[in-house]
Amino acid sequence: MTNTLFIGGEWQAAASGAEFETLDPATGQPHAQVSLAGAADADAAVRAARAALENPEWAGLTPARRARILWRIGDLIEEHAEELAELETRDQGQPLGISMAVSVAAAAEHFRYYAGWVTKIYGETAPLSFPGVLQYTKREPVGVCALITPWNFPLMIASWKIAPALACGNTVIVKPAEQTPMTTVRLVELCREAGVPDGAINLLTGGPEAGRALVEHPGVDKVSFTGSTETGRDIVRASAGNLKRVTLELGGKAPSLVLPGADLDAAVAGCLQGALLNSGQVCAAYTRFLVHRSLADEFAERCGKAVSGMRLGAGNAPDTELGPLVTDEHRDHVHALVRSGVQEGAQLLAGGAPVDDLPGFFYQPTVFTDVRDDMRIAREEIFGPVLSVLPYDDEDEAVARANDTEYGLAAAVWTRDVGAAHRVAGSIRAGTVFINMPNPVDASAPWGGFKASGWGREMGSGAIDAYTEVKSVWTSLA
Ligand code: NAD
Repeated sequence: MTNTLFIGGEWQAAASGAEFETLDPATGQPHAQVSLAGAADADAAVRAARAALENPEWAGLTPARRARILWRIGDLIEEHAEELAELETRDQGQPLGISMAVSVAAAAEHFRYYAGWVTKIYGETAPLSFPGVLQYTKREPVGVCALITPWNFPLMIASWKIAPALACGNTVIVKPAEQTPMTTVRLVELCREAGVPDGAINLLTGGPEAGRALVEHPGVDKVSFTGSTETGRDIVRASAGNLKRVTLELGGKAPSLVLPGADLDAAVAGCLQGALLNSGQVCAAYTRFLVHRSLADEFAERCGKAVSGMRLGAGNAPDTELGPLVTDEHRDHVHALVRSGVQEGAQLLAGGAPVDDLPGFFYQPTVFTDVRDDMRIAREEIFGPVLSVLPYDDEDEAVARANDTEYGLAAAVWTRDVGAAHRVAGSIRAGTVFINMPNPVDASAPWGGFKASGWGREMGSGAIDAYTEVKSVWTSLA
């Protein structure tokens, strides 16, 4: 019997005794046995989190003390960096170098960054027009926060949420994706080791049922969700009962605009990096390459050649450049979209099929040309190693086509013309625009989407706004 639920300071099995198995995406073989939380476990976790919210062991901690705990979590993540990176690679499939340099490093940085914020969550005073009145604001915790995460960067995205939520004095229930729960289990152990008191952090491993139970629960004050736009819509509907605060980080279909005269070497290298990190399983992945017609053929040819030479393999093999997709089901989804591209008339320049001669869930990196804006591959989020090259003739047309999407998470511009760079950045409807670079994240830069890519911002001061309520206090000085 496994005990991967953490409720009120106790590791435990699901109340129903149910369990499930996760698979190693590089082999397709079983990797871990995990407790399957249901509604009863969600209810127990909410009760524990609510009790901890009032408990002086957590509520009574000075900001300096809370900051130390968060800083210690960052240290512990770093002390266990290799172990966490290997676990992330086994669980999720990403190459070990990515697990270390992106997932583990960003997780540690997020805890340190928000450790710094704890002692700087200020209120304000306003110049009221009432004589003889002093007014000030305070930022208070929102309360019990359900943190629901996806499978593409499980450790990092859990940290994006846990660190600011605890920094602001909330209590949390974390619900990792069913495909990739293991680094979150380990992270919760480290949070506990760092001194987060019983009930302030709780963990439910399980699937959509556990997530739904949290979202519907009247004892939850806030939901912070990262995942698909479709699930985001369900969450908005299901959270309406007590009008929970909701933050949504959803899907994307990032355009990457290569302007005339761009440095083609840099554009090809940066676009491929931005498209293929974690085998394209990145919400901000560049997937629609709008390339000026003067450069489009050469750009496509270079991309095709580069991806055809990439080394696919298990994430823990030293020379692997591209790991597997997370599950067989997800690989089927990617392949179905690639087939739709072919059927709708796009030309395959490279790839286009699952990999037969490796175990696990590998897919060939794929480049399409002759892609029209109305094709499914140009409109739907693929979340795999599939790129489309779409030539354009003038800047206004490129911007209009880049914006012709329900999503608005990220975009890229490649140009040597500084005026054009900022003109285009200003016209793109997306939460983040990268100029002449791939698409990293940093704890201090706001992250989130316009349009159907989400609500609210994570990172930077945006997360402090998202995990606090503002209280205004008025005092008569008479
Ligand atoms: P998903 O929506 O299927 O699942 C995400 C999480 O929600 C999982 O933990 C799942 O168990 C849970 N869940 C599913 N249905 C639920 C429901 N009805 N109520 C509550 N919880 C529910 O997403 P996924 O397939 O795991 O992740 C891929 C998606 O995540 C992509 O669309 C990607 O763009 C998006 N994503 C966005 C960002 C961002 O920062 N905007 C970052 C990473 C991933």
